[in-house]
Amino acid sequence: MARIKNDRRTFIKFSTLGILAVALGGGIVISPYALQAEMRLRPPGAVSEKDFLALCIKCGQCLQVCPYHSIKLADMAKGHGIGTPYIDARERGCYACTAVPCVLACPSGALDHACEKPEDIKMGIAVLEFPNKCIAMTNTPVPVGHSKRIHDFTNAQMNVTQLERDMLAKLDEFEGKQCTICADMCPIPNPLSAIAMIREGNGKKPEVYEGCIGCGACEELCPANEAAIVIKPRLSYEDYYIKGIKS
Ligand code: SF4
Ligand code: SF4
Ligand code: SF4
Repeated sequence: MARIKNDRRTFIKFSTLGILAVALGGGIVISPYALQAEMRLRPPGAVSEKDFLALCIKCGQCLQVCPYHSIKLADMAKGHGIGTPYIDARERGCYACTAVPCVLACPSGALDHACEKPEDIKMGIAVLEFPNKCIAMTNTPVPVGHSKRIHDFTNAQMNVTQLERDMLAKLDEFEGKQCTICADMCPIPNPLSAIAMIREGNGKKPEVYEGCIGCGACEELCPANEAAIVIKPRLSYEDYYIKGIKS
């Protein structure tokens, strides 16, 4: 509840600044932020971006029910769609909850209620964008303290859930081992349909398959300084890996 208040406060602050910018320009100046069309990772079930922006009433219901604190409200600094929910995967991915409660909570149709289970989620597609950063490829053990960033984010929440504690406990077990985090922490019911470690030179690398839903857990948990694996929002496996559409 405190987080949504904070998000709303930030939203109001930036909205006010935006209105001020327009007023100062006599109604002619449009804030450059409003023109930025950054493609964001939207919560599960999000309809097309155009319809999503039209339908979302910015009520924050989806983020209030998320047991992983995955959803945030966009502020002015994040470009278009101020006040709309999005997921910053490096900070906290989605964990594909069984009954997809964020979708159930959405009263406006911005999150489509036809998305009823993890297999229905289609947020984007995972890509090993920076293979040179993947520590599995160089057989570098997962460093001590690799999960501090993720613990810190969790501890900063007002109401840490048991699901988050369980996820962190599982993540901490990788310390000192060869990295298979993206594959072994993939939260969907059949993770092997989405990602697996395959041999590559002297090490291993993750390979992404059609079952990937683009939840972003792999991007969040990757222990490299900068995530080696990232999500391409709204692209499907076919778009990226077969048709070669890159963004
Ligand atoms: S499916 Fe679960 S973890 Fe993912 S955004 Fe919805 S409520 Fe949060
Ligand atoms: S999480 Fe995956 S992509 Fe990141 S270092 Fe480990 S194996 Fe490589
Ligand atoms: S590989 Fe798994 S964890 Fe990564 S985005 Fe796809 S479904 Fe999510």
